[in-house]
Amino acid sequence: MMADRYLAFANRPVGRFLTGRLGLPQPRPLLRHAEGQPAVIGPVLAGAAPGGRLAEAVVATLAGTPAAMLFEGDAADWPGLAARHGVMAARFLPGQSGRAGSAVFDATGIADPAGLDALYTFFHHCVREIAPDGRIVVLGAPPETCADADARVAQRALEGFTRSLGKEARRNIAVQLVRVAADADAAALDSTLRFFLSRRSAYVSGQVVHVAAPVVDLPEAAPRAHRGRRVLVTGAARGIGAAIAEAFAREGAKVVALDVPQAGADLLSLAQRLGGSRLALDITDPASDAAILEDAATHGGYDVVVHNAGITRDRTIARMSRAEWDQVMQVNLLAPLRITEALLGAGALGPNGRIVGVSSIAGIAGNLGQTNYAATKAGVIGMVDALAPRLAARGATINAVAPGFIETRMTAAIPFAIREAGRRMNAMGAGRPAGRCRRDHPLARRAAQRRGQRQHRPRLRPEPAGR
Ligand code: NAD
Repeated sequence: MMADRYLAFANRPVGRFLTGRLGLPQPRPLLRHAEGQPAVIGPVLAGAAPGGRLAEAVVATLAGTPAAMLFEGDAADWPGLAARHGVMAARFLPGQSGRAGSAVFDATGIADPAGLDALYTFFHHCVREIAPDGRIVVLGAPPETCADADARVAQRALEGFTRSLGKEARRNIAVQLVRVAADADAAALDSTLRFFLSRRSAYVSGQVVHVAAPVVDLPEAAPRAHRGRRVLVTGAARGIGAAIAEAFAREGAKVVALDVPQAGADLLSLAQRLGGSRLALDITDPASDAAILEDAATHGGYDVVVHNAGITRDRTIARMSRAEWDQVMQVNLLAPLRITEALLGAGALGPNGRIVGVSSIAGIAGNLGQTNYAATKAGVIGMVDALAPRLAARGATINAVAPGFIETRMTAAIPFAIREAGRRMNAMGAGRPAGRCRRDHPLARRAAQRRGQRQHRPRLRPEPAGR
């Protein structure tokens, strides 16, 4: 990990004082999920606008976790739902209940702009009662599916509200909007909600996510959910790829780590550490297809393929050489397309298989000096859109992830000033180290100890009869 000296400075008393006075960013060390931690940061404060349809889905998600529930308002029958799902619940009493670890607000019932008032009522009272490092999720309906113009306006308004709340909440609290299609059931929402209410989503904030009815079997919610699955990760020798491989191995997968032959030593030590295997191949070489297919045929195919290998060759288009353009195209886009076709053609992707393309925020927003890179990363999203229906027909899925600024050797090559801007301008104000759990960072440890002494201890009171 590259040293983040600004983060360390801003968290010393003198640094906190100076950055505060100068109006500079004040990032805090981010707490990330580690094995054995609860899936959801509790207690979870639940609220709803009248007419919402997702209260039961929220309570059902909590039922699978040790998190207790606090509830605000009477728009849903929270006590009845909690009793039905065996969730410990109590009415939220601001200033008395103790702080909540996270909050979920069901806004699907907001049917006109006047109804947005429900957001004000809930968050005005509650936002200060969410503990640092907490999570907030607003649940809405896809605006394009709303029955009338009023509802469409109101549901679209949730996006501006949520993104702004994400910027306001500070204290490492992440805020997301999840739009849930009318035909998506509780099971469809479950994994998304659990992710956004956990420390797995440490760096994600201000996102708008769409949950539709599942087209394939849903993954089990259990920890080590990847047990026994074979997972091919390209570019796995270091950086994000190594972190992806480690995450899959932690959850029980058999990882096949692929990288260029020059990265052979790192690849070998990773594969040994994870109890997996390795493929030393350059993916731009069409001959690599045969080696991948042979590995798949020998071991029964792959359940998951992560196209992570990627390179940058940054230069403005007028100064960019053809080689710089070509190399980026070859590694980031043409190779994943070719390998995916080869795998599908050979039937090497298992039933209920998963393909993930690593795109980039640059592929969405563009970047100075990255016409080649951004074209390939937007192309990865195109690959996903184009192949999704074909894969769904065989019970498989394909998705892209678009990371922001992740501290790896790739970002170490960025000039200092641009790197600092990247660190401070992302959602949580700090660069994310690939694969290192920030709980282990001394600052994070101290902060967690301090917070643990003060927070996450809700005082649950029984719900008074008749309320
Ligand atoms: P990195 O440079 O640290 O690692 C990339 C890995 O890919 C290396 O191990 C490299 O050897 C391997 N690789 C490159 N060319 C290859 C080839 N022809 N065949 C096989 N392996 C090859 O980069 P990273 O930061 O870990 O990036 C991983 C992915 O994430 C890339 O696709 C990148 O575009 C994407 N990404 C990174 C960031 C970031 O901020 N670091 C942000 C968004 C997206």
